[in-house]
Amino acid sequence: MDTQFQRRSSRLRRFFGFAVAAVSWAVGSASAAAQPVPVHLTIDAASVPAPIQQAALAEVSRLWAPYGFDVGPDVPGGTIRSGIAIRIVCDMQRHDRGDELGEIQFDADGTPSPTVTILYGAVAHLAQGAEVLGTNPAELPVRARDGAIGRAVGRVLAHEIGHFLLRSPHHPDSGLMRARFDAAALTSPDAGLFQLTRTDRDRLEIVRRALYAPTPASTAETAVAARTRGSQAR
Ligand SMILES: [Zn+2]
Repeated sequence: MDTQFQRRSSRLRRFFGFAVAAVSWAVGSASAAAQPVPVHLTIDAASVPAPIQQAALAEVSRLWAPYGFDVGPDVPGGTIRSGIAIRIVCDMQRHDRGDELGEIQFDADGTPSPTVTILYGAVAHLAQGAEVLGTNPAELPVRARDGAIGRAVGRVLAHEIGHFLLRSPHHPDSGLMRARFDAAALTSPDAGLFQLTRTDRDRLEIVRRALYAPTPASTAETAVAARTRGSQAR
């Protein structure tokens, strides 16, 4: 069973989507290298069980922390003062229209959408079909199973956020931004496959500096989407 992350031309399938929105940057460029850039997530996922949400948020935070991004949920009712605002939309349905798990749209000028969609139903289904440490999730204690599903959701989310932060729909051959992961990798306690490649890290540093400039408004009518897909490869 494989999971793909593929670039396509419209929407995300079988997973829940999270949208990322660029709000404002108030951090001075001189301190950019030293201070983490806050990434505020606004999550539209009321139907996702709280333990899975918590595990997903912990995973996405853990995956992005080494690269200088402090990813976490926005404070309810709070005012974003600086950083990046990302809206996460969870599609709870398990669509039977392919193997996609998540999606973010890009305008024709290459500007990523501030909204990411995760096909939660598809991701949860995929995760529950994977063995975790050699054990079928159905046989795991609820807490462990929720943790495995949460890791998978968090990793798909981290991938989609990566498209936004890197300002690129590109998929390299390896690392967090690769096009395909199998379900076992998505649920494994080992996150070694979900690191950025050297090329992506270099790009991120360049984009990171550029992001402190005002974000141009998007006027494009056509869009390109980077989608996350999951497939049963066997
Ligand atoms: Zn992708």
